[in-house]
Amino acid sequence: MLNNSHIYHQTLHDLKKRGIDVASVTLNLDNMLVAKDKAVSGPRKSIEHLFKQNKVDYIRGAASFVSPTKVTVELLDGGKSELESNNFVVATGSEVTPFPGGGVQIDEQQIVSSTGALSLQTVPEKLVVIGGGVIGLELGSVWSRLGAEVTVVEFLGGIGGAGIDEEIACVIRLDHSFASGKFKLHTKIIFAEKHNGKVLLHAQSAKGDKDETLEADVVLVAIGRRPYVEGLNLAAAGIELDTKGRIIIDHQFNTSNKNIKCIGDVTFGTMLAHKAEEEGIAAVEYIKTGHGHVNYNAIPSVIYTHPEVSWVGKTEQELKVEGVQYNVGKFNFSANSRAKTNLDYEGFVKIIAEKETDKVLGVHIIGPNAGEMIGEAVLAIEYGASAEDIARTSHAHPTLSEAFKEAAMAAYSKPIHM
Ligand code: NAD
Repeated sequence: MLNNSHIYHQTLHDLKKRGIDVASVTLNLDNMLVAKDKAVSGPRKSIEHLFKQNKVDYIRGAASFVSPTKVTVELLDGGKSELESNNFVVATGSEVTPFPGGGVQIDEQQIVSSTGALSLQTVPEKLVVIGGGVIGLELGSVWSRLGAEVTVVEFLGGIGGAGIDEEIACVIRLDHSFASGKFKLHTKIIFAEKHNGKVLLHAQSAKGDKDETLEADVVLVAIGRRPYVEGLNLAAAGIELDTKGRIIIDHQFNTSNKNIKCIGDVTFGTMLAHKAEEEGIAAVEYIKTGHGHVNYNAIPSVIYTHPEVSWVGKTEQELKVEGVQYNVGKFNFSANSRAKTNLDYEGFVKIIAEKETDKVLGVHIIGPNAGEMIGEAVLAIEYGASAEDIARTSHAHPTLSEAFKEAAMAAYSKPIHM
């Protein structure tokens, strides 16, 4: 949906200046949704195939612990099955956090979560997004590009969710991501009511001194996700949760029951598929060999808006709190030849390196292809590279990645093209 809505938006608003005249452009939302469904079912089938190829039994059903070494499975195709093992890995993920106090009830038709927002049958005239985190920005930009008037209401003073660089959050706030979107910061939604086919949202300033009512055709609730453990009967296995409902684990992914490990959204850390994937491999390595490792400082984050946002490692704010001295090297895509030639040059690369050693501590990017470019930064952090190491590494010309090299130059000395 992100990719195809971007192509649609670009066809409408961007092709003319590139010398491509398109006679008429119409949105076929039904077909776009079919393409989305195929994009989801394809990888799922491939994974089922991988299970077969690797002789992994795949049992479709809902599991529930009956003892620390046994689960029963309510099979999707009917009936029950039992499984016994000395090793279990719980990876049940997360679900949408319900609205606190029940003031906004998700019906997945007019008041939707990310699930419903990926299946709207028509483009809403006015979409109000509650929560300016990753989901709010990504799905807000999808429907904005498809023609909705989007307003994002965010309780905090910044958008982009936890861990985002403050400077980048400001740039998104001012002029990016949305074709026509606006942000209402320091504002919280109290409750919603349906009236004459619309949803009326009662909003209040974060300080509680101002009230207003917003009208929407569709409301997207994107206020976070919470661990999903329903029906697992964790008590039977002696597994404990913390006060936020996360399964408690130690550094080897052991739950409070040493025979049961746990990874992903249902336990601590960022709720990202690639973080869970690293944990899954490390947990199995612990079971097989007694050793495993995940470098949480080298897990990248990406917001798939346009321009994209990505980051890895520390933010300036975090380093200030830790009292670490650092240098910042920044390079704007407007000075990168590929970005300029492509007429897609909003944003910048920012590299933070330790003052004394020049070691790369954090990389923050907003710009074209930021989600791909961050891979280079993850490698740098994983291998303990210095900014000079990157700056002295040849990067092909003309490519966007030269902006990464030049930001590294700026961190330890001076960029050539700015
Ligand atoms: P989030 O935690 O990123 O953002 C939720 C936002 O809602 C916060 O900024 C919060 O201040 C705000 N909020 C909460 N209550 C509010 C209220 N009553 N009124 C106004 N604002 C309110 O959560 P999300 O965007 O729902 O995403 C959930 C999880 O899914 C995150 O952990 C995210 O990393 C993950 N995710 C990641 C990707 C990606 O990596 N591209 C994509 C989708 C989801």
